[in-house]
Amino acid sequence: VAVVKFENVSKDYGNGKKALKNLNLEINEGEFVTLIGPSGCGKTTALKLINGLIKSSDGNIYINNKEISKWNQIYLRRQIGYVIQQVGLFPHLNISENISYVLKIKGVEKVQRKQRARELIELVGLTKNDLKKYPRELSGGQQQRVGVARALAADPPIILMDEPFGAIDEITRKKLQDELIDIHKKVNKTIIFVTHDIHEAMKLGNKIVLLKEGELIISGSREDIFFNQ
Ligand code: ADP
Ligand code: ADP
Repeated sequence: VAVVKFENVSKDYGNGKKALKNLNLEINEGEFVTLIGPSGCGKTTALKLINGLIKSSDGNIYINNKEISKWNQIYLRRQIGYVIQQVGLFPHLNISENISYVLKIKGVEKVQRKQRARELIELVGLTKNDLKKYPRELSGGQQQRVGVARALAADPPIILMDEPFGAIDEITRKKLQDELIDIHKKVNKTIIFVTHDIHEAMKLGNKIVLLKEGELIISGSREDIFFNQ
């Protein structure tokens, strides 16, 4: 089942140069897709189109078979968790509150919110002791784990990640990558992960999509990309 579908999608920010050109792409339920390509090739644009932060200039985008402009923004947001490089935790909220913030907005009771934060903290490789801490007490890598937990809190079927580990040292990054592979196995989510690091893309993705200057150059599994094309 295609969870996300791009049909002849172009994006022109109005500066004459197309950020995406005639993109056709289907992403199926449960896939871990890595979007790879040099800076400026349109990766972030693709993610922003999926979560409705920007609109396409041409073509159609479908989320769960529904054309994106037909989605109510609030319901669309609930389908999608978003993790970016600058994870942006609320400094005045503790880790538990940060993770479950979205649930508070949705009107979920405090007891359940705390319960959900407890479940998620261990999933991302932190401990229950960390729940009472404030963001400034955590390292960059730990904060990024909290960012992942926060994106999972409301159980959205789609998770978008935009260079989430880009600012993290290499050893920690490797751990976070392994953790994410594990999380993907445990919770059946569709993950779309943007990176300009080819090793990261190859390691994480069970489908790899290579963009260049707004165009899809190649997409497929590791085997497809190396042996069949
Ligand atoms: P990537 O994520 O692969 O680095 P982006 O999607 O951010 O690429 O950008 C693709 C192209 O669109 C680049 O040429 C970039 O300069 C341009 N672009 C991105 N955002 C904007 C914007 N808000 N206004 C104008 N041009 C933009
Ligand atoms: P809203 O109530 O407008 O849906 P929230 O209050 O849930 O947004 O989110 C707080 C902030 O996080 C907002 O600034 C919003 O831009 C951002 N955000 C939340 N969900 C998403 C998402 N799926 N994609 C992009 N940004 C998001």
